[in-house]
Amino acid sequence: MSTTFDVVVIGAGPAGYVAAIRCAQLGLKTACVDDQTGKDGAASPGGTCLNVGCIPSKALLDSSEQYHRIQHEFASHGIQVKEASIDIDTMLARKDKIVKTLTGGIQQLFKANKVSFFHGRGKLLQNNQVAVDGDKENLTLQASNIIIACGSEPIDIPAAPIDQDRIVDSTGALEFGQVPRHLGVIGAGVIGLELGSVWRRLGSEVTVLEALDKFLPMVDQAIAKDAQRQFKAQGLNIKLGCRVTGTDQTAKHVSVDYSDKNGSHSIEVERLVVAVGRRPNTNTIAAEEVELKKDDRGFIEIDDQWQTSVPHVFAIGDAVRGPMLAHKGSEEGMAVAELLSGQHAHVNYEVIPWVIYTWPEIAWVGKTEQELDSENVSYRTGAFPFAATGRARAMEYPMGQIRIIAHQHTDRVLGVHIVGPYASELIAEAVVAMEFAASSEDIARIVHAHPTLSEAMHEAALAVDKRAIHKAN
Ligand code: FAD
Ligand code: NAD
Repeated sequence: MSTTFDVVVIGAGPAGYVAAIRCAQLGLKTACVDDQTGKDGAASPGGTCLNVGCIPSKALLDSSEQYHRIQHEFASHGIQVKEASIDIDTMLARKDKIVKTLTGGIQQLFKANKVSFFHGRGKLLQNNQVAVDGDKENLTLQASNIIIACGSEPIDIPAAPIDQDRIVDSTGALEFGQVPRHLGVIGAGVIGLELGSVWRRLGSEVTVLEALDKFLPMVDQAIAKDAQRQFKAQGLNIKLGCRVTGTDQTAKHVSVDYSDKNGSHSIEVERLVVAVGRRPNTNTIAAEEVELKKDDRGFIEIDDQWQTSVPHVFAIGDAVRGPMLAHKGSEEGMAVAELLSGQHAHVNYEVIPWVIYTWPEIAWVGKTEQELDSENVSYRTGAFPFAATGRARAMEYPMGQIRIIAHQHTDRVLGVHIVGPYASELIAEAVVAMEFAASSEDIARIVHAHPTLSEAMHEAALAVDKRAIHKAN
């Protein structure tokens, strides 16, 4: 077996496996090292995203959404369903099967592209070497270039130590064998809202304790307020401005102590999810003698071409600055592969879409009104409610809105913000528009099919110029 490569990638998450495949496509002799092990004990490339992140969470979001619809939405269509019930074991098994299929798919893609895969823990050594502490043997790989894509891990807090039984992180929250009667969640961020929604729809009483006074501060606040109202109506009890001070476990419960502006409180929950952010998984990525620079939060320092402080060593994905998103890491992976094969590479960090897969979904790209205000940029906004589109009415989803923000003078689109049905799919049009430096007038002049949800995008663009057709301007 060869141990000398053009490129060795450490980590097979969406950043690393994409980098490895693209390197191999470009003719570079490539290896990828990853330490994830699946439930069956076998290698399971795909990183956080495929194993315990994007994919399993979306599988459960989808299952729980179907269940919620049967119970709460079918009746208005005239469909009567007697006694819908949920079999959690089947739901979890479906999720696990999807994960197994997709992680198996990565192994097949590695084979098809001739990427050598090593299952084990990689460590960056001096002189372009990677030590692999493998499940079968220990090896040292030699590479012309190395790409670190070691990802991130959940942050824990001393007030709520994770035991993956009563107090869990996002991974544990994908595995509850029964619907908790009362679920506590610390952190009203992306994970807290997505996984809180899963268990709420399945019947849990859900209380979310968020430290900040503002709900979803990174989201345009008109959209965040609209979403917050809808989550409240769904029964997600989101408490802002809470500082969790401690937890205490009995055989069946966790009591969670917290304080807010009104004083000290305690709630009793059956399970508690800690979802207070993620940190780069970089503690042991390099041997001590390697001078790999990291910032004070552990992110590997890179320049604008993903080059680290060590020559011939690059870093991408959650392990470096920027949003912790699978598609951001994948784009960086492709970019570095192209650089290493002598091409130019660029990732447009200004136009990376975000999606929160609650119902309704939240999606956005570009700047919020609050960011533009703080930058003293003048703009116009056009908003359009889904309730005013025929398709949303026909689907029985008359909720949410699209807001387009365009520059006051040039009309260039600066941000698009959606809360509503299938926002995750609708945002793609806005991403294309912004990537091509479109104006709101450009979107207003594009023919959108009728009846579709995308008509709300068309109308929001018309609304920027106060000429929406299906609402008063
Ligand atoms: P990772 O996916 O973390 O992969 C890194 C891999 O490297 C892992 O397999 C790790 O075990 C391995 N590794 C680490 N160190 C070593 C080493 N020394 N040797 C060998 N292997 C090593 N993002 C989205 O864009 N959309 C979503 O819907 C979404 N949903 C999410 C839901 C949840 C519950 C969570 C937790 C995250 C979600 N994310 C989502 C975030 C997304 O999972 C990450 O941004 C993405 O996985 C980062 O990719 P990465 O390749 O940088 O790192
Ligand atoms: P997050 O940063 O989205 O949210 C964490 C929340 O916890 C914040 O609102 C923060 O103010 C709050 N918080 C922090 N410390 C706290 C404390 N001690 N008490 C109470 N609240 C506290 O982080 P996350 O939800 O853990 O998700 C991590 C990252 O994973 C996300 O930022 C995102 O990059 C990625 N992710 C993406 C998706 C998606 O794209 N749909 C889904 C899940 C995760």
